[in-house]
Amino acid sequence: MLKNLLILLIVINFSPLAWAKNIHYGLDVTIDTQNQKLTGTASITATEERTLNFFVANFSKLTVNEKTITPKQGYITLPIQSGQKLVINYELILNNENTHFIDQNNVFLTGRWYPQLDELVEYQLSVTLPNGFIATSEADSVDVRKTKTSSRFTFQFNHPLDSLNLAASKNYIVKTDSYKSIKIEAYFFQEDAILADTYMKYSKKYLAMYENMLTPYPYKRFAIVENILPTGFGMPSYTLLGRAVVHLPFIVKTSLGHEILHEWFGNSVFVDYEQGNWAEGITNYLADQHYAAMRGEGKAYRKQIMVDYNAYVNNNHAMSVKSFKLRHNPAQRVIGYGKTAMIFHMLRKQFGDKAFFAAWRDFIQTYSFRLAAWNEIQKTFETVTGKNLANYFSQWLNRTDIPQITAENVELQVIQGKLLLTFTLVQHNAPYQLQLPITIYTNENKTQQLIEITSKRQQITLTLDEPPTKVVIDENYDIMRQLAPNSTNISWNYGQAKSSYCSSS
Ligand SMILES: [Zn+2]
Repeated sequence: MLKNLLILLIVINFSPLAWAKNIHYGLDVTIDTQNQKLTGTASITATEERTLNFFVANFSKLTVNEKTITPKQGYITLPIQSGQKLVINYELILNNENTHFIDQNNVFLTGRWYPQLDELVEYQLSVTLPNGFIATSEADSVDVRKTKTSSRFTFQFNHPLDSLNLAASKNYIVKTDSYKSIKIEAYFFQEDAILADTYMKYSKKYLAMYENMLTPYPYKRFAIVENILPTGFGMPSYTLLGRAVVHLPFIVKTSLGHEILHEWFGNSVFVDYEQGNWAEGITNYLADQHYAAMRGEGKAYRKQIMVDYNAYVNNNHAMSVKSFKLRHNPAQRVIGYGKTAMIFHMLRKQFGDKAFFAAWRDFIQTYSFRLAAWNEIQKTFETVTGKNLANYFSQWLNRTDIPQITAENVELQVIQGKLLLTFTLVQHNAPYQLQLPITIYTNENKTQQLIEITSKRQQITLTLDEPPTKVVIDENYDIMRQLAPNSTNISWNYGQAKSSYCSSS
């Protein structure tokens, strides 16, 4: 017990990834939809001496403790003493950023609309809007107080956030349901309210899936919130989906599950973006790829990642996985979502489902409500598997190429009464360390084995029990690699000729 307590103290005191528990941040905003104006007051208190950086670009009438202040490059840096209170007042004209939308009936704020700290912090948010609005934000529960002219929403959320978002509309129809003790809410525009039941039904299915696969859902509430802007965002405790897409059938079948999975990866274990974004890769892998695999289409899904890599990533667009932050073009998508999903798939293949999911559960339990980076993922997998994975993570995260492998000198011989298959695997760029699955077909059955390759040219000798009819390397697209031109797999057939010709299949 004491040992556990000591470990806990060390984590809290010395980890740079812990959240700013010594800060209390209250934010009170009033939104004037008529004039598209937001008036805000941020009240910050500290329980120890700190220096805080706030992003305040585009704010007007900016004062700190009633003194006018001029930001430097959009930031203000303020020291705060223990017990001191900083009061930041500001105004902001909305609708001059494409992440904001405001009209008489709707307010969507997903950009910088409050003095944002560059660290995780718990916010206490209150928003006042004209009467008739229904508002939602990151919250476990929402308290509403109405007057004759306005409604004031106070959001209870005792968890740290990396950003704060707001969705409000006069046209919302709210429906509720629950899964275990999790409150499920649907905020759809009147004309789309018919979708609420389907979305809540699927939400329950995904919550059950991921609680079973990973750990309990991190929050008390999950809301599906329709947005005027064409977004597909997952925020802590809710998802914001654009009205242009909510009717599309694939949204409930894939995107909704993807956003719900982000509640674990990205929205409770937060991404340390400076160190690279790992969250899209694991979410893509355990959502989109996983659903394809459940339909028996996992192989096709992974092959498509490699086809897309060929199509979109050339020398101009090549980048390392570690440098991926956000997706702005198809090449970044292939790398940050696709190649990264394959990095996790290869780990799963190497260590098996039990160790793979045990590692993710450990990772979530250790890093919930904190920032985590690739190093933390590596550390967790090393602890669970007992293996040094420095080379594995280094080659896949830092290199900007992917393996390019061919087979040469294929021979089938009988030597001293043994049937031997020999071939040379050639890596055409600097060699990766890989565990390549090789499938050998005979008339009767097929067998698969893993071959570890580490060098540029590696001769492989396999002893066979019966003559092969076909040999395929990486039949199920388990290894991220360059596909040969016009080709899918590295394979060769027997029967027609015992040649070293590598054909496609
Ligand atoms: Zn995502």
